Amino acid sequence: MAYTKVAPPEGFSAPGLFATSLEKVIGLARSNSIWPLPFATSCCGIEFMATMGAHYDLGRFGAERLSYSPRQADLLMVMGTIAKKLAPVVEQVYEQMAEPRWVMAVGACASSGGIFDTYSVLQGIDRVVPVDVYVPGCPPRPEQILDGFMKVQELVRNESLRKRYSPEYKEMLARFGIQTIKTA
Ligand code: SF4
Repeated sequence: MAYTKVAPPEGFSAPGLFATSLEKVIGLARSNSIWPLPFATSCCGIEFMATMGAHYDLGRFGAERLSYSPRQADLLMVMGTIAKKLAPVVEQVYEQMAEPRWVMAVGACASSGGIFDTYSVLQGIDRVVPVDVYVPGCPPRPEQILDGFMKVQELVRNESLRKRYSPEYKEMLARFGIQTIKTA
């Protein structure tokens, strides 16, 4: 398994010295040790399996440790068609994740219901949980999933440590009916 070398965060450097802020160091560490929770319900999940395989190897980004418990997951990856009956389950999984947590909608179905414009299918998981990154495609290729993952990494790397405690963030959660903020 080949790992990608990560560039240091912005900071001040001199011979034998490098100084930066705690926020940037935490952002760098978090973005390269994301534990994804794969919530795969249909065909897009197969593309995710390929993304985890040796050829595409999500492990290069420090994310080879999948978490099947929401309590130890950082990134909820929803892949596949979500029936309306399943929507409360997606919401419950999100609520069980500790802060900070991120969400990726992988593929057309998770993002918008896809081709299933029917009474029984949720027209996008952003009806029940906030989404950070949308990956288009039916299905998206593993390269697109990797690209989406790298966009999540960028968000994680640059997130302020105060964001999760801000009134704006609490308001946003309240709009989804999610009141509690749990910290890891
Ligand atoms: S977006 Fe396409 S490939 Fe993905 S779950 Fe929906 S129908 Fe299947």
